[in-house]
Amino acid sequence: MSGPAGGFRLCPSCGDPGIEFRDGKQWLCPACGFEYYHNVATAAGIIIDCSGQILFVERAREPRKGCLALPGGFVNPAERAEDAAVRECQEEIGWFPLQMKFLSSFPNVYEYNGISYNTCDFYFYAQYYVDPGDDVVPVPDETASVHYIRLQSIPMDRVAFPSLRRAIEAYRLLVGTP
Ligand SMILES: [Zn+2]
Repeated sequence: MSGPAGGFRLCPSCGDPGIEFRDGKQWLCPACGFEYYHNVATAAGIIIDCSGQILFVERAREPRKGCLALPGGFVNPAERAEDAAVRECQEEIGWFPLQMKFLSSFPNVYEYNGISYNTCDFYFYAQYYVDPGDDVVPVPDETASVHYIRLQSIPMDRVAFPSLRRAIEAYRLLVGTP
């Protein structure tokens, strides 16, 4: 049955090859009744705006290695999206904003190790009048480097994910930048 690339070829419960993938999210084994929902995963990121310069991280890992992304990542079980965004900030750049606001959420597809994960990406924003300077330190393995890019000048073809491009557009509308 067709499913997420790299998905189950045999039922993980009974080993039957007749396992089916339905509605873009459900694995069902007619032989034993095994069900697994490949549900939408939640991710969170923060637009850190320093007087019109947006903090981007250059991704150190696949997917989209070398592309521009925000500090952010997947929400853990029992974690709030806000807390995940702050935790990921700390893990990737060694610093996090103390206050932020919700911007919007957008769907995305995250390809990792041969599996497609449908995600719902939550975007927050934090505004500063000065950049955090030396407090921001790219954490090796997570972040290749940190870049500050003017909101009007973001090279959209280097932005890692379609949901992030939509978030940038939403933020431009919010702050009135053409
Ligand atoms: Zn089965």
